Amino acid sequence: MSFTTLGLSDALVQGILATGYTAPTEIQSRAIPLAVQGQDLIGLAQTGTGKTAAFVLPVLHKLSLIEPPQPRHVRALILTPTRELATQIEASIKNYGRFMKLFSATIYGGVDMFRQISLLRRGFDIVIATPGRLIDHLGRKTIDLSKVEMLVLDEADRMLDMGFVNDVKKIIALLPQARQTLLFSATMSQGIKSLTASVQRSPKLVQVGEERKPADSVTQKFYKVEQDQKTALLFHILDTVEMDSVLVFSRTKHGADKIQHRLEQRGIKAIAIHSNRTQSQRERALRGFRQKHYKVLVATDIAARGIDIEGISHVINYDTPNFAEDYVHRIGRTGRAAATGDAITFVARDEYKHFRRIAEFIGKRLQLEAYPNFSGTETASLLKEEGISRFKPDEESRESHHHHRQAERNKQRSFKNRENKNNGAEQMTTKRTERSRKQSEKPQRNGFKHHGFPKQKSGSKSEYTMRKSETPWQNLLSDEEAYEKVQRKSGRD
Ligand code: AMP
Repeated sequence: MSFTTLGLSDALVQGILATGYTAPTEIQSRAIPLAVQGQDLIGLAQTGTGKTAAFVLPVLHKLSLIEPPQPRHVRALILTPTRELATQIEASIKNYGRFMKLFSATIYGGVDMFRQISLLRRGFDIVIATPGRLIDHLGRKTIDLSKVEMLVLDEADRMLDMGFVNDVKKIIALLPQARQTLLFSATMSQGIKSLTASVQRSPKLVQVGEERKPADSVTQKFYKVEQDQKTALLFHILDTVEMDSVLVFSRTKHGADKIQHRLEQRGIKAIAIHSNRTQSQRERALRGFRQKHYKVLVATDIAARGIDIEGISHVINYDTPNFAEDYVHRIGRTGRAAATGDAITFVARDEYKHFRRIAEFIGKRLQLEAYPNFSGTETASLLKEEGISRFKPDEESRESHHHHRQAERNKQRSFKNRENKNNGAEQMTTKRTERSRKQSEKPQRNGFKHHGFPKQKSGSKSEYTMRKSETPWQNLLSDEEAYEKVQRKSGRD
């Protein structure tokens, strides 16, 4: 099949060919003709299948049919969970739409709000946004969505996972009823089913590949390793296996920084991305990794969403992901566009339950094995000689040990409370201690001290809100922060 048979405009077909695509992928050849006819659509496709073009092309096609009105207003809205995805969608729009006169803007948190507001005044045909920042703009009335003809929900399952469901619903409530809605998701969860029922009209379902199944081109390995041996195993693998571009996943931002630091100490060029890094730092890191200045990119789940880098030869999950869906997403970073890739997952004792969930989710017999010829000890002593001080129990495992102990203590405490049901004083003290513990934990998040939001000296309420949402810690309490919380909760069960 060729792109000319999908019903797309000539300028668009030229743009696609100029991008270097010769034939549509399966999701594209099945979804685009339906979307071009104006159908609402549910696209069940994992990242790596070409699903971005499957919604970007129909959007560009539809908008190109009518001359853009003057002044321009938002006619297509694309909601996506992360900034990285938003920037990549915009890059696709610019690529495929290079011979068209359509303008797009991205809206996401972590960048200057005033600049975004003045940018939006220029008028755009397509807006690509993360839900949180778009809600901010809607609250300030700096964007008008009343003329949107086409809505895309990209990685809808992830938006729900990240707790954006209410924001998404609020946004959709402000759109015209008469619109076309395309929803893309890797999984068809109950949440997605009820969302589609409330926001789409008789949608057609297009499913590509088996849901939940990682691409066949990716070889998956799971290795048992003690938590405090993970770094040694990582070094051992990097030393002994031929690897080009390696993506290492860490569950936490702090963990990502530590892994990167250790790799650098070891003389391995590495860079880390997570939400504590500014947008420009992240872009620089990705550019450096793409251009092979770094062998290893260490990333958290949220920061890596939508990372589109060709030629990632290996994905190494330093931590077993808590969520099986994350596993599929993580390993989807390699073996893209039919290239082959290897995914390696380290599984420590307290991560066996996550491994079992992954196996259940994928529905395949996965083997948990020992890494061949790795005892850890020789690498350990070698590293000791090099003066790398990581053979103390890993901070991560200490943290989880601490959490475990804390959970045990809480359990005992609540048991005690039950025993002392009639002793009101004891219960109040416990509550107060719990509250003060929570408060004392809050300011230390991400290593930033929370000194309170800046006081409003002059100006309107909206000025205050604006400064408030731009304080660095506000950005840090973004997607990733919320996500880490969810992960911690799920790790406890
Ligand atoms: P996605 O699933 O949208 O993240 O796309 C995965 C990768 O496939 C991206 O690098 C796209 O540029 C690439 N891609 C998408 N469609 C095609 C196509 N028809 N031919 C070749 N590569 C494609």
